[in-house]
Amino acid sequence: MADLCSELRIDALAAELRRLDPSLPLLGSEAPAELLRFSADYHDYSPVLVELLRGCRAQLVAFASSLDQVRLVAGACARHGVPLTVRGAGTGNYGQCVPLQGGLVLDLCGLNQLRHCDAATGVIEVEAGSLMGALNQQLAPLGRALRLVPSTARSATIGGFIAGGSGGIGSLRWGFLRDPGNLLGLEVVTLEPEPRLLQLDAAASAPLNHAYGSNGILTALRLPTTALLAWQQVVVGFDSWDRALAAAQALPATALQLHALTLLDGPIAHKLPWPGGCPPAPLGQHRLLLLAAPDALEVLPAWLAAFGGQIHWQAPEGESRGLPLRELSWNHTTLHWRAQHPDWTYLQMLLPQPERPCLELLNQRWGDDLLWHLEAVKQLGASRLAALPLLRWRGELALGRLMADCREAGAVIFNPHVISVEAGGLGVVDADQVAAKAAHDPAGLLNPGKLAGWLSNPG
Ligand SMILES: Cc1cc2nc3c(=O)[nH]c(=O)nc-3n(C[C@H](O)[C@H](O)[C@H](O)COP(=O)(O)OP(=O)(O)OC[C@H]3O[C@@H](n4cnc5c(N)ncnc54)[C@H](O)[C@@H]3O)c2cc1C
Repeated sequence: MADLCSELRIDALAAELRRLDPSLPLLGSEAPAELLRFSADYHDYSPVLVELLRGCRAQLVAFASSLDQVRLVAGACARHGVPLTVRGAGTGNYGQCVPLQGGLVLDLCGLNQLRHCDAATGVIEVEAGSLMGALNQQLAPLGRALRLVPSTARSATIGGFIAGGSGGIGSLRWGFLRDPGNLLGLEVVTLEPEPRLLQLDAAASAPLNHAYGSNGILTALRLPTTALLAWQQVVVGFDSWDRALAAAQALPATALQLHALTLLDGPIAHKLPWPGGCPPAPLGQHRLLLLAAPDALEVLPAWLAAFGGQIHWQAPEGESRGLPLRELSWNHTTLHWRAQHPDWTYLQMLLPQPERPCLELLNQRWGDDLLWHLEAVKQLGASRLAALPLLRWRGELALGRLMADCREAGAVIFNPHVISVEAGGLGVVDADQVAAKAAHDPAGLLNPGKLAGWLSNPG
């Protein structure tokens, strides 16, 4: 799939950038290993993507730490007709920041100031390259926290989360990133010979939310925050999967305040690393991981015992050793499993309600090749269970059959083995995303190849 720009064009672009801003850090052909490093993300979870993205690499990497530098790079790329792919921390799982047509990768990790936190509303304005973990540390003394973060919050940027992520810790309360209210506004630089700096309100920002940076360079975001709570990490063991599932279904309907709920099939729990002091899971024990409000702890032990669950470990967040419980959830579960089983991959889906018949049908058909990892989420205001099951890799045909079985069983698949924004979502073109690309990137140079709606109907 590798498709590069002519070296002449890249050399001319690099020369212009060096002339216009000698302080702008640039990497070029003299640093081939670094070019590869800044072209990669975590798409190796998918054997399909590994093949599709083989050889894709940047020809130039620029590191911007100011708005002026972003505009300078955007303008120069537009004038030279060179593709530009924005990069945060490069932790995406679908090759979102892998440049399909070479060109320049623009790393925005240096653009990382918290510009403002409104004391009355908790609304923040923050630059796109801010790491979410660091941002939460800045917000804590103000009594605030981000509503939603991925399990990679310690290493990933807020701009990359909005452009490439979907949800995570907090989705149990706040739904998914694209739900109205989770993004209040964006500051955006266009890709034009004279780039414009736009301030978009919530409605105008929506088409740039989860568009893989293909229709605008996000330089700052306006986001709501939530009151800071001292979440307690709780690990619960169950001997019976059915009772563990029943508890996971029932908990979000209680008045107990939870921030995350992860349910792990016994074989997964048995192989996972656990926080310091938490006993490993014996074979056959399924585990429910919770982030619960301190006042929930009075009720939880007896409530869980009624479902056959027993609390094996608990500790306030930030006060335990080793891995935080958050880093056993969402795609960290996949990461830890694959560290020991590199021949496994994963899927992402929203389970139908009731969940059990779907899980049973898939267990019957796929047996030991499929292990369940569920996450409680809110979808359109209702509590639901999402699944990120682990599956033994048996080739693309088997993957296709499994996805067909999941759909037959009523699940909605969010396919993590595809390149385009649309194919990884609901499979339909969002005309507003395409219109935003026409308005902000008329030459189609931003992360080319990722927005299917543009490829089928450019400009
Ligand atoms: C172990 C593991 C666990 C994960 N858990 C979760 C999870 O819980 N929830 C979740 O949603 N994701 C998860 N992810 C995926 C990923 O970590 C997150 O989506 C993360 O927020 C991406 O941020 P990033 O800075 O690494 O973005 P990158 O990977 O650098 O970029 C992601 C996309 O956004 C674009 N982009 C980045 N910055 C900008 C910008 N300023 N303007 C325009 N476009 C931009 C890039 O071009 C790319 O298309 C996980 C990944 C791993 C490896």
